[in-house]
Amino acid sequence: MFQVGCWGVLFWHLPHPVSSPSSASMEDGTVSHASPAEILERISAQLGCSPASAELAVHLDGTDELGHLRGLFHMPKTTDLSPTDPGLVHGTEDCVYLAGNSLGLQPKKTKEYLDVELDKWAKTGVHGHTEGSRPWVCAENTIEEMMAHLVGAMVEEVALMNGLTVNLHLLLLSFYKPTARRHKILIEDKAFPSDYYAVQSQIRLRGYEPQHSLLLIRPREGEDTLRTEDILTTIEKEGDSIAVILFSAVQYYTGQLFDMAAIATAGQEKGCLVGFDCAHAVGNVPLRLHDWGVDFACWCSYKYVNSGAGGLAGAFIHEKHSGSVRPALWGWWGHDLKSRFLMDNEMQLIPGVGGYRLSNQPILLVCSLQASLEIFSQTSMQALRKKSVLLTGYLEYLLKRNFGHEDADPHKAHVRIMTPSDPAQRGCQLSLCFSVPVTNIFRELERRAVACDMREPDVLRVAPVPLYNSFRDVHRFVCILREALAVSHGHPQGALL
Ligand SMILES: *Cc1c(COP(=O)(O)O)cnc(C)c1O
Repeated sequence: MFQVGCWGVLFWHLPHPVSSPSSASMEDGTVSHASPAEILERISAQLGCSPASAELAVHLDGTDELGHLRGLFHMPKTTDLSPTDPGLVHGTEDCVYLAGNSLGLQPKKTKEYLDVELDKWAKTGVHGHTEGSRPWVCAENTIEEMMAHLVGAMVEEVALMNGLTVNLHLLLLSFYKPTARRHKILIEDKAFPSDYYAVQSQIRLRGYEPQHSLLLIRPREGEDTLRTEDILTTIEKEGDSIAVILFSAVQYYTGQLFDMAAIATAGQEKGCLVGFDCAHAVGNVPLRLHDWGVDFACWCSYKYVNSGAGGLAGAFIHEKHSGSVRPALWGWWGHDLKSRFLMDNEMQLIPGVGGYRLSNQPILLVCSLQASLEIFSQTSMQALRKKSVLLTGYLEYLLKRNFGHEDADPHKAHVRIMTPSDPAQRGCQLSLCFSVPVTNIFRELERRAVACDMREPDVLRVAPVPLYNSFRDVHRFVCILREALAVSHGHPQGALL
């Protein structure tokens, strides 16, 4: 189980001649708890190459037990990306896709599943509701179990429906019940705009003012990310007036992974309800929403869960609330399936989150989500996390080694990593700040077929996704970044170290 503060569950064994980075087997009994940097240095020493060499990346890919999963996705080619300058790339090789935090890649099965349902519709029309392997009347039910597994929930605790912001509103309508004494919502400062707007408008909807009822928690002066101790202290101090604590699980801008279990416990001890927006966490880090006692959660599925833009979103309500918390808004899809079509207008509400469904499901979105969830089912979040810690650790290692120092050389650009360096406090994304304007760097990266993203005001977000990114991708990124820095900085940056 993944625990914040104890990331070192990266078991490592050293068979001969060179260790395998993703092997969980420890039959030789030699287990070590090494940091990614130590592992990378050890393996490159064994190989007799520099940790900066492509040889190390090739070796790590060769021993990556999840490497075959990349082949299950469509990887865009360099020349298919419009900003690419054909003179700066080699032929039609794969681009360097590090934007899975924004939009996950398309599973190859997606189209096949969509075609099945389009054909069924074309050939049988309304009969599709009840026929085939994916009857439309209960299509989402066939994939909820896989999604529940991904977020560490029981299947009855999860519903797939709507979009993320819609689900956040539906959940807040039930969970945010302000009173004169307890009317605040605590969120992190610089929360994702949609979450911020949702919370603001919910406060107004209940007749309160965000000015008094919205509590923002900021990092300390001069720091980029929040300290868990500060979050817990705020909850302890302000908890009596807080109705709902709503945090992101992984912060979209900084990449910080919050200690959800600790926040949930601290909040509930003060009588608050605790929810998480898991948009940047689901499919990225192992989640145990049930065991952590999280009251409610929501997420989208088009980032690390690869369901395509606007894909079917998720909602979670802990089983402990299934008898007590009811949806404020009803629709026929929240009615028990057994009697839903009696059309007697006698609501038989499904207990828990199932009762929050309003409309019949968009079957085409179910197809694309299914294609991706089936890939997750071929592995586990633990295996993905293990690779992820090393893959992102590798990126961090190369960045720090090459661009990390504000050394005496004024000709060298430098990169600061805003994301916590403790792997327990981050997922796969690193957020980077530069000593030169980020827009220039971003443009130069795009011309060289790197897909990553820039977020205002000054951050470049880079996400090596363990499901389909390789160590070679990370190595190529760092080489291209060196060129981009040289161009933006107007000075060569020297060889990669
Ligand atoms: C991506 C993201 C959203 C987007 O919301 P939609 O309703 O899916 O458009 C909202 N909140 C967070 C934290 C996100 O990361």
